[in-house]
Amino acid sequence: MQRLRLELRAETDRSYDVLVGRGVLNDLHSEIKRIGRFSSFGLVTDDCVRPLLAEQLQTKLRAQNIHAELLSFPPGERAKNMETVLQLCHQLIARGFDRSSLLIAVGGGVVGDVAGFAAAIYMRGIPYIQVPTTLLAQVDSAIGGKTGVDLPSGKNLLGAFHQPLLVMSDPNVLASLPVEAKREGFAEIIKAALIADPELFYLLENEGAHLLDNASEMMETIISKAADVKCRVVSQDERESSLRRILNFGHTVGHALETASQYILTHGQAVAAGMGVAIRFSQKWAGLDQSEAERALKLIQGLGLPTSLPGDIRSESILSALEQDKKIQGNMCHFVLITEIGQAVIKPISVDELKASLDKLKQ
Ligand code: NAD
Repeated sequence: MQRLRLELRAETDRSYDVLVGRGVLNDLHSEIKRIGRFSSFGLVTDDCVRPLLAEQLQTKLRAQNIHAELLSFPPGERAKNMETVLQLCHQLIARGFDRSSLLIAVGGGVVGDVAGFAAAIYMRGIPYIQVPTTLLAQVDSAIGGKTGVDLPSGKNLLGAFHQPLLVMSDPNVLASLPVEAKREGFAEIIKAALIADPELFYLLENEGAHLLDNASEMMETIISKAADVKCRVVSQDERESSLRRILNFGHTVGHALETASQYILTHGQAVAAGMGVAIRFSQKWAGLDQSEAERALKLIQGLGLPTSLPGDIRSESILSALEQDKKIQGNMCHFVLITEIGQAVIKPISVDELKASLDKLKQ
């Protein structure tokens, strides 16, 4: 088991542990007792994860004298809205939850974002912990304290920074995850490797397509290395004023592709294609060596993810999505690029250069 630490420099007492290990959830009760005393407990989950994992966790906690109420909502992005948060808060009120209650978010990124946001606003903020059950949530969304919900006009438009007290990631829970959901997580893991961890990149390269196989013994190491990248970056820039922006590698064009494709592309596919663009831009503007670029592209493709722009999406649609997303300011767009595998830089690129390069990539 790896015990990582997310240090928050501004207020060290809000720093917290990120535990990664096979079977780590067997220690959930003792970790909860270690971090504090709570008046009541709410296990927040979705209707898919509830029978798979959350009910067993509730039973295990009960055996240790921790009586947690199960609160669930429908699975998927469609439930990531204010209505779900309000219903959750009504249930918390009805059950007498107070400022000393603890929420335990058991699920993927949607559950983590919704439960975290409810915890951020319920009675002006109550404590919560994250028990991520998708690969994406274990390496990314459960760490860093970004919480929130979608509006009909866009994703993640309402939200708050609210750090959890603890994150517990057990790779064993990924056994039931469909392969498509695993790919979503690997897009973020490759990103972490490319921007900050060359050793993680070599590990991924060595494992290749075996990574999609549940039995990969390396998963604990891979998850903890990717989680560590997120911890290190957030430690230095909790509110995304500078360094945290490097986590957007592949996401600038990725988000634009998600919008331009009207969400036909999944987030992972869009980010992978966005990384493909960022890798080629890195060759042009950040001196990335051709052989390193080829290795990075091969790794992404080997996991069944795209690295080029979809044929039916025009450069103009990508540029207009970037504009809508306020990514273009004063005729410039800031891109996260890599100078070598494991080393990120942020470079401004003019809209004209961007358009010309996107057009070229589409040929
Ligand atoms: P998700 O939470 O929708 O989970 C995907 C599906 O997998 C759901 O149907 C869920 O019920 C199911 N599932 C979860 N765990 C399972 C398991 N162990 N076995 C089988 N099925 C399981 O999707 P996600 O990809 O985990 O998260 C995506 C969300 O995360 C998006 O809303 C995105 O905006 C958000 N996100 C947040 C941050 C952040 O910093 N807060 C970062 C990245 C992404």
